[in-house]
Amino acid sequence: MNEGILQIAKRIAAGGKNIVFTGAGISTESGIPDYRSDGGIWEKHRPIYYDEFMSSKEARIEYWRRKANLYPDLVNAQPNPAHHALVDLYKMGLLEAVITQNIDGLHQKAGLPDERVIELHGNSQRVRCTRCGKLSPLDDAYRRVKAGDLAPECECGGYLKPDTISFGQMMPAEKVRRAVELSNACDLFLVIGSTLIVHPAALMPDYAKRHGSFLAIINLSETPYDNVCDVLIRAKAGEVLPAIVEASSVMKSRSL
Ligand SMILES: [Zn+2]
Repeated sequence: MNEGILQIAKRIAAGGKNIVFTGAGISTESGIPDYRSDGGIWEKHRPIYYDEFMSSKEARIEYWRRKANLYPDLVNAQPNPAHHALVDLYKMGLLEAVITQNIDGLHQKAGLPDERVIELHGNSQRVRCTRCGKLSPLDDAYRRVKAGDLAPECECGGYLKPDTISFGQMMPAEKVRRAVELSNACDLFLVIGSTLIVHPAALMPDYAKRHGSFLAIINLSETPYDNVCDVLIRAKAGEVLPAIVEASSVMKSRSL
């Protein structure tokens, strides 16, 4: 077995505070496109900024039109072996929390409780009113758009928007605070499928490392932390993670 897999498994099984950080790379195996890679949506469309969404009905209509196009892929996307492996880890009591840049909700779909998933960029399965903050399922808004209500609004008159962070929109302060706090106080910081370039994600491995945490990275492409991390595995998460969790489980049962 890969030496890196065993090293990570050993750290996990030691039973400290284990934090996992996930990016687009964990969801590509579920058919969710990585927006930053070639041919991603960013190539085809100029993004709609938050200010435009708030100030222009045309921008809102265009936003919802794009959203409706993505909807079938979004609802049909299923968690892959990497998501399931993290749920197994949680059930073994070996996973404190997942910090994610993803908005697909697949960690929860796989079975992780909401409160264990810190979604830095929001969740596209939910809709939030930009005025009163009320949350509702994406399904409801989607049905309205399909029925001809092209830029749906809340009962309060506010604009409905998927509960994700748009370009030009503030990051959710409370979630960032919690993510930083966890990074500062963990024993293992395991990065899966993130290039660690987008802020504030880019700083978190640094916090973890500076506080003496073990830093491991599973990613197909380069990251700025490749030379400072303790273990680096260049492989697909869905192939490596189940093996790590399996090995952790064996090590944990041996130590009991
Ligand atoms: Zn409202």
